Amino acid sequence: MNGCIFCKIVSGDIPSYKVYETGETLAFLDIHPVAKGHTLVIPKSHSRNIMDILPQDWAHVSETVRIVAIGLEKALGADGVNLMMNNREHAGQVVDHPHMHIIPRFKGDGLTQWPHGAYAQDEAQIVQEKIRSALS
Ligand code: 5GP
Ligand code: ZN
Repeated sequence: MNGCIFCKIVSGDIPSYKVYETGETLAFLDIHPVAKGHTLVIPKSHSRNIMDILPQDWAHVSETVRIVAIGLEKALGADGVNLMMNNREHAGQVVDHPHMHIIPRFKGDGLTQWPHGAYAQDEAQIVQEKIRSALS
């Protein structure tokens, strides 16, 4: 799509360090890595995020993520990986083309995880019902 930097990476108009590619997906190094080897996996077809990606594109992305996560851990001698996807501006999405982050993790690397909260009395059930009814 016009103006989309990840579409330009797919077309080769913007260079990238590609690590894996299929007919439908591309995996390349994030230019500002959280950790060395931080990789992005994208569908080659343009959409914006998890809200509008075609189910078949998502299926291809998730399989590529699985393959690259295993390869990345092995290649870098990592102790684990985080998978992350930001969807929409207020969830931290900057590039409007779906992308999964794969971040290699090392024992004692000091990267922090999200803080955990708690539900008030009955709150979990109210939230559960909201979600269940939206999905039914
Ligand atoms: P978001 O915040 O949208 O989930 O993540 C976008 C990611 O894309 C960021 O981690 C950023 O470093 C990466 N990024 C932005 N522009 C480029 C680029 O031109 N090339 C590469 N390889 N990564 C990019
Ligand atoms: Zn795009």
